[in-house]
Amino acid sequence: VPVIGVLALQGDVREHVAALAGAGADARAVRRPGELDAVDGLVVPGGESTTISKLVDIFEMREPIDKRIAAGMPVYGSCAGMIMLATEVLDGRPDQRGFAGIEMTVRRNAFGRQVDSFEAPVTVAGVDGEPFHAVFIRAPWVERVGPGVEVLGRVTDGPAADRIVAVRQGNLLATSFHPELTGDLRLHRLFVDVVRAAA
Ligand code: GLN
Repeated sequence: VPVIGVLALQGDVREHVAALAGAGADARAVRRPGELDAVDGLVVPGGESTTISKLVDIFEMREPIDKRIAAGMPVYGSCAGMIMLATEVLDGRPDQRGFAGIEMTVRRNAFGRQVDSFEAPVTVAGVDGEPFHAVFIRAPWVERVGPGVEVLGRVTDGPAADRIVAVRQGNLLATSFHPELTGDLRLHRLFVDVVRAAA
């Protein structure tokens, strides 16, 4: 059984731990470098990317996580976690810093203030069945991807139609939306498979 950590500095940690456990992982909160050593993969949860960025430094997790990502550890980031995985952030705070794992430009809070929170159907490549009922909460979207990045999903409907909201680069996955909030375990299952394959 793959051991998967959820970076537990801020954000919806419990929801990801539950979703990972439901998807067949040994899931646990990770807050310290020693705890990171014990996991095969990591989830960076939704929350507030500027806060997560600060706490990553305070908890001295930046170098350990950067090193594990460089060594191929699978990571899945949702929403703020997507922002933490991007090489470039638009509308970010000047002092916020991520792990720069996925070659992409994301725009923070992209969907606009009028629609702080909304739902839309999103089909994710490699995931069978119905489209996800994707929940977006002050979510980023992806404005540019590098050549090594696979676009897995776009919004299919409404004013944000065609916006990229799910991507993968190697062992790194990111979504703008929060599958951990809807009881739909397919994305966590996909991530557990990525972790298994990498182990
Ligand atoms: N707006 C948040 C940020 O910039 C992300 C929102 C979320 O994770 N639900 O980090």
